[in-house]
Amino acid sequence: MATKIKFQAIRGTRDLLPPETAVWNRVEQTAHSVFATFGFGEIRVPIFESTDLFARAVGGETDIVSKEMYSFTDGPVGLLQRLDFSNVGQFLDEIAEKLQRDEIPKTAENTLTIERAKEVFAAFKKASGKIPVSAFASSSESDSLKEYTEMAYEAIYLANRISTGDSVSLRPEATASVCRAYIEHNMQQLPQPVKLYCMGPMFRRERPQKGRYRQFYQIDAEVLEAVRKEVASGEWRVASKELAKDAAVDAEVIQMVMTFFDKLELQGVQLDINSIGDRNCRPKYVELLRAELQKVKDKLGPDSQRRIETNPLRVLDSKVKEEQSIIENLPRIGDHLCDECAENYKAVKRELDLRGVKYGENWRLVRGLDYYMRTTFEITAQGLGSQNAVCGGGRYDGLVELLGGPPTKGIGFAIGEDRLILSLQESGKEVASGEWRVASGRLGVDVYVAWMGGSAYATAIRAAKDLRKAGFSVELPPVEQKFGKALGQADKLGAKYALILGENEVASGEWTLKTLADGSQLKLPEPALIDHLRKSKAVSS
Ligand code: AMP
Repeated sequence: MATKIKFQAIRGTRDLLPPETAVWNRVEQTAHSVFATFGFGEIRVPIFESTDLFARAVGGETDIVSKEMYSFTDGPVGLLQRLDFSNVGQFLDEIAEKLQRDEIPKTAENTLTIERAKEVFAAFKKASGKIPVSAFASSSESDSLKEYTEMAYEAIYLANRISTGDSVSLRPEATASVCRAYIEHNMQQLPQPVKLYCMGPMFRRERPQKGRYRQFYQIDAEVLEAVRKEVASGEWRVASKELAKDAAVDAEVIQMVMTFFDKLELQGVQLDINSIGDRNCRPKYVELLRAELQKVKDKLGPDSQRRIETNPLRVLDSKVKEEQSIIENLPRIGDHLCDECAENYKAVKRELDLRGVKYGENWRLVRGLDYYMRTTFEITAQGLGSQNAVCGGGRYDGLVELLGGPPTKGIGFAIGEDRLILSLQESGKEVASGEWRVASGRLGVDVYVAWMGGSAYATAIRAAKDLRKAGFSVELPPVEQKFGKALGQADKLGAKYALILGENEVASGEWTLKTLADGSQLKLPEPALIDHLRKSKAVSS
């Protein structure tokens, strides 16, 4: 008997099902409309990009790039992907040809590996010719069979090691791609700044837990602005003006995400801000921090000990209980900002105050990615346990240049959509106040068409068509049902109304509408009935 195969979603990924997907749609729709009011346009970037792009932008030392990316080789078309005894020879021939034609990287390692694989495969072919068919049936011949299979496996192993193309990765975040697109499409020639947002899945191989997935969704916004010549040359007259302008841009971006959360009625929202300095003052602070950490190294756990060398700022992120009192006594970046960063930070706070945006200051907020400078912020919400950050962001002047573009300023944020929705659900806010359609836990059927008798079918089809055209969600059963069963079905689906179409209704042109919540009934001609439904929808939404 054939074994039954049971496929399941890969660990750390999940299906989003109706009716929950309606909540996702509502959240995304709200983002589209709120962001548009701030002058942002949507950009859609690819799901995978060159691995080098992320390595350069996010930083080769970060956990994301060094451990968490889903990377694979993007080779020429038509190459066999799953090699076995029977096809490895054909694969090696094709590979040799493609190497000649420069379709795969002509590296010394590739040339050697191909040579060696061909040799092993030739030996395997020679040996396999000598093995009698009986060997496959008798265990006495198992030694020669073993040698034979080992050779084949070695050929397959070597063939799999041939690099057939460039390394690409599923995107772990969106900022790098948006910056790449800004450069690729010469967006520095558009009116500046360029305000973009995007949404979609991101991929990181993290340990899955509540609020942490391997495929998760982000809503991301970025403001990019080409640096004018006089600014790039460091002219002192413009420097101060620029700092003030950057502060206003930062505050507006933060205000936008807070407006979005407000619109969604997200509960327990807390905004924390910090300045982490720039290339001028941060390195000096990091050295000071490292020196101070060395003094207390013995009292720190293994993770923090390691980070003293690799990235001392990340020690400030530590949630380890025993380390908290030590961290509290470490030097704070706020006391070591250069004049420009200090001025800018003050201006950011002033701009937030002007906009009525409430915030807390958290000197330990450093953010995990390499490219941030000056303003950083994080927003937490309720109901999420330890993974309570729903949004992280900050300024990243210089990143575009690092990716080969012109001098450009940047600020942006990424909202964790999974967590945002989890928090909305935990606090019962996944359905906006007064929303008519998306009743929680139920599909949004407005009208169930309970038709009876062959002559009513054509009318039922027409009624469904007209009601759908008027924007109602309609369920039209494909077969005739008895009255009781039809009403039972309508109830199960959570329909608001049943439209009863029997032979009488068809003959008289007066249709019966039953409100399922209270059982009340109404008889009306078709246009009046649609009008009545429209009005009741307007009242309840
Ligand atoms: P980051 O890109 O790391 O700054 O993250 C920005 C936001 O994305 C975080 O505040 C989270 O809300 C969300 N996020 C990051 N990683 C994950 C993950 N593995 N699963 C779910 N949400 C995540």
